[in-house]
Amino acid sequence: MVLPEALPNVSSLPSYVPGARGSASGPAPIKLSSNENPLPPLPSVSRAIASAGESVNRYPDMFAADLVNALAQRQGLPAENVMVGAGSVAVLAHLLQAYAGPGREVVYAWRSFEAYPILTALTGATPVTAPLAPSGRHDLDAMAALISDRTAAVMVCSPNNPTGPAVMADEFAAFVDRVPSHVLVVLDEAYVEFVSDQACVDGNTYIGADAWETHPNVVVLRTMSKAYGLAGLRVGFAFGHADVLAPARACVTPFSVSSVAQVAALASLEAQAELLERVEGIVAERDRVFAALTSDGWSIPEPQGNFIWIGAGDRTAELVTHLGAQSPAILVRPFTDEGVRLTIGSPTDNDAALAALAGLTWRV
Ligand SMILES: *Cc1c(COP(=O)(O)O)cnc(C)c1O
Repeated sequence: MVLPEALPNVSSLPSYVPGARGSASGPAPIKLSSNENPLPPLPSVSRAIASAGESVNRYPDMFAADLVNALAQRQGLPAENVMVGAGSVAVLAHLLQAYAGPGREVVYAWRSFEAYPILTALTGATPVTAPLAPSGRHDLDAMAALISDRTAAVMVCSPNNPTGPAVMADEFAAFVDRVPSHVLVVLDEAYVEFVSDQACVDGNTYIGADAWETHPNVVVLRTMSKAYGLAGLRVGFAFGHADVLAPARACVTPFSVSSVAQVAALASLEAQAELLERVEGIVAERDRVFAALTSDGWSIPEPQGNFIWIGAGDRTAELVTHLGAQSPAILVRPFTDEGVRLTIGSPTDNDAALAALAGLTWRV
């Protein structure tokens, strides 16, 4: 029997590889395989989630008005400059649905966030990639050189998942000056709260009426999943020119940001100071792990997010097996024959990872 035939661009999609979760038996593994926040929700956020749970028989506010207003107010913007979605991956998907498609091109660095090729292919657009510099950094000159009349959008991931370095402020400024205004520039700042080098790009420079006067095509993407610790609830958002966001907003699946997620995001914004203090702790751990590995002979690209990259190349499988053989097992995110991304966890978990890495007879 002939089955319904999926579109060729869908049939050939690469699949998203989520971080390993470990098996149900044996000691709980040390899970450093997804870029999650190792800390559970604050009590105030847990309470808001529990109480929102009592009214899930009702549909959520489709426009997430309270959350949009809170985000807009914090940024000093009207609500029309804010868009929320079920994770910033969904916001990006809607931006690409609105702007990319067959006959158009989407430019991004590679290796970068693995959702980029999937979301691009889903629209039917052609991906155009610029290899990262050997230091795991974006090569913005190479990316700018790939932009043509067919380019619909370009994604810049800063800090770059999975390699770690952030884009420098001066580099990004020169880049957006080179990109024609008909090309959407998405600055994906999923890890911006972890950035400690002041010379790195700060999306806030590109948000607001003055900024959009010069660069109306720049959209800044943020998420509640990483620094705010709400990965399991799916809330992300974008700041952009009203006319640029409106078509993307039209693509949103109705009611996709749940009422529980909206309430949790609001409660997290209210607890922002406390949450950002916890981020400082994770940043201190990241710097400790980076310093320890560097002095032990590893060559790690400068990490500005909550993860580090070990470019193990053809020893990647060996490294993953070694980490997995520890007790408890240490789970990381492997990229076949390229390397391993290790998320910063609790100090104890990080110590376990450092000890396991020190036990290897080789370094990269
Ligand atoms: C984690 C991540 C996101 C955000 O994911 P959501 O959970 O969908 O908000 C976006 N971009 C990058 C580069 C990420 O690593």
